[in-house]
Amino acid sequence: MAQVPKSVQKLIEAFERLPGIGPKTAQRLTFYLLNAPREEAENLAKAALEMKEKTTFCSVCFNIGESSPCNICDDAARNQSIIMVVENPLDILALDKTNFKGLYHVLGGVISPLENIGPSEIRIKELLPRLKKGVVDELILATNPTVEGEATAMYIQRLISPMDIKITRIARGLPVGSDIEYADETTLSRALEGRKEY
Ligand SMILES: [Zn+2]
Repeated sequence: MAQVPKSVQKLIEAFERLPGIGPKTAQRLTFYLLNAPREEAENLAKAALEMKEKTTFCSVCFNIGESSPCNICDDAARNQSIIMVVENPLDILALDKTNFKGLYHVLGGVISPLENIGPSEIRIKELLPRLKKGVVDELILATNPTVEGEATAMYIQRLISPMDIKITRIARGLPVGSDIEYADETTLSRALEGRKEY
């Protein structure tokens, strides 16, 4: 019986572990690289390693950056009294193109019972000490307008409501089920301006 070489099998398996990549795509990517010039495989491997070596999670907001605290948390010119809660670092990339100049908090996911992700699997408890300092007076919940994103926003709202902090949710200008990271600047600006008390 014909077998693929072990090294090929290993790469297929590595691709399969990536989110959103099934066995077929993993095979396609592997055979693409098998036929591509050596340089292309090298660039991919190098970029992945370099990213791991040069980036770190900010110890304050859990954004990715090349330093901790990240350049956003470290920027004294930003409004320290307002924190926007987002699902992942790519959301910051999109939202920071709007004129929002407060701080962020990256959850690193959403509550999803179907995927066994509970509140303790994402960075909710890490948010609490940031709110206890008495500096923050508004928390904007900017999770995606999906079922999980709404459930996560609701969970945080319940948790924070005993504290004396205004809680807002970005407006529904965003299409339901869509992702903040892919939304355009105008839509995001409108969603932010139209935020409502939660
Ligand atoms: Zn930070």
